[in-house]
Amino acid sequence: MSTDTKIDFLEKLLSTPSPVGYEVAGQRVWLDFVKPFSDEITTDVYGSAAASLKVSDDAITVMLEAHCDEIGMVVQYIDSDGFVYINRLGGSDAGIARAKKVFIHTQKGIVSGVIGNTAIHLQDRTNKKLPTWKDLFIDIGAQNKEEAQQMVRVGDPVTFTDDLEFITDDLITARALDNRIGSYIIACALQKLSSQKDKLKVNVVAVNSVQEEIGGYGARMMSYRLKPNVAIVTDVTHATDTPGVDNKEHGEVKLGKGPAVTHGTANQIKLVEFLIETADKAEIPIQHEASSIRTGTDTDSIFYSGTGIASALVSTPMRYMHSPVEMVSLQDAAHVSELMVQAVLMMEAKQSFELF
Ligand SMILES: [Zn+2]
Repeated sequence: MSTDTKIDFLEKLLSTPSPVGYEVAGQRVWLDFVKPFSDEITTDVYGSAAASLKVSDDAITVMLEAHCDEIGMVVQYIDSDGFVYINRLGGSDAGIARAKKVFIHTQKGIVSGVIGNTAIHLQDRTNKKLPTWKDLFIDIGAQNKEEAQQMVRVGDPVTFTDDLEFITDDLITARALDNRIGSYIIACALQKLSSQKDKLKVNVVAVNSVQEEIGGYGARMMSYRLKPNVAIVTDVTHATDTPGVDNKEHGEVKLGKGPAVTHGTANQIKLVEFLIETADKAEIPIQHEASSIRTGTDTDSIFYSGTGIASALVSTPMRYMHSPVEMVSLQDAAHVSELMVQAVLMMEAKQSFELF
């Protein structure tokens, strides 16, 4: 598959909003891409989707997992003047929301709006506090509450409008690269594995899970349903290489320096070592990251499913996470995908990660 075709797919994934709890449209884009080279498609009642390559009933199954949802906002209240008040969906940052353009996703289609920003001349200069969500409102140009209610409904999800842009040939920016880049990575990995199916000794299932941003729920449901033996999870992680980030507190991960392999907590020791050896053999650059209590990703929901699934997190470094200008390196993403591909190809039919 050409690079252009893949970038078109990423662009379509990013231009199709998938706010947490409302992921169906985005999942259709992902499914359309993976269907032609998959043996089987599985979906569930909340919208998680999986595409698999079947080799043998006697072989283990390896899950390649990402989450498909993005953070956003939700319509909470409409006032008598027709201004639309919002709350957050997942970990959205109220401090950067003012003066941003938004789309409200309604039953009848998209309603455009802006998050109101009082002109600097009119601001109360004594108030230096960052806003909280209740201080923010969307202006959709309605005259009053009744008119606004014709356009939007309480509960409609809201997203920023920022789509894919290239900063350099390698660095891209967009909202929702967390974790559309992961959905893209697992789809590309599955596509490559399908083209080398004769070399494959294990079953593979790529899972694009809903509702990670509020607790890893989709991944939990799909792990229970699919019962994989091994899970390689991909999400974004903080690149800590910009001004103002304390490496002593947050570790050292750099943009463009390769996938970050996480150690500790949900990350199964032998699988992590297997990934590091794979990266070494395949000459894929990697970085190291420590997990202290939780990884803060779907890995936390997957590893303890059933009697336990050997799981490991491999992340794409990202600057400015949970903002409309999230930034990643396409080369890092390609390396994450390639690490997944090589690890799966190196696994034996009965590959075991037992510790004893
Ligand atoms: Zn994420």
